[in-house]
Amino acid sequence: MNRDDCIFCKIATGKIGATTVLEDKACLAFMDIGPLAEGHLLLISKDHVETIDELTADQAAALLRHVPALVAAVKRATGCEGVNVLQNNGRVAHQAVMHLHVHIIPRRGGDEFYFNWPAGKYPPGQMEALADRIKAHLK
Ligand code: AMP
Ligand code: ZN
Repeated sequence: MNRDDCIFCKIATGKIGATTVLEDKACLAFMDIGPLAEGHLLLISKDHVETIDELTADQAAALLRHVPALVAAVKRATGCEGVNVLQNNGRVAHQAVMHLHVHIIPRRGGDEFYFNWPAGKYPPGQMEALADRIKAHLK
């Protein structure tokens, strides 16, 4: 299903253009127009889904199966040293376009893309208790 007000639905249905590198029945990969590095790609599902937890396992498999080949192709085409595969869910997680997408971002030493990674530490017992709560919610 598509949404009229969604830019990535418009790309998926060909209403607006994109520079596509891969397409199948369910998915599309195209060049990001605001690249964090040359060769930055986006992989989307053609159906309008906002966040990754809305996908069924089969839909996720149909989408994410393309990631290894896309990463390999970007590495060969750009000669980059590494790649970040990023997927933002929710505004608080830096999702600006509310149609599920996977970023494939070529990386080079000394590039201008930094993570703030404020690693924390659990007090004794808290990590295990939290793991139990997460397990209880896994279907
Ligand atoms: P996010 O912050 O994860 O929602 O990222 C959205 C990404 O979509 C950004 O990297 C934008 O540069 C990219 N983007 C937005 N509009 C277009 C478009 N029409 N074609 C290609 N990329 C786009
Ligand atoms: Zn959409």
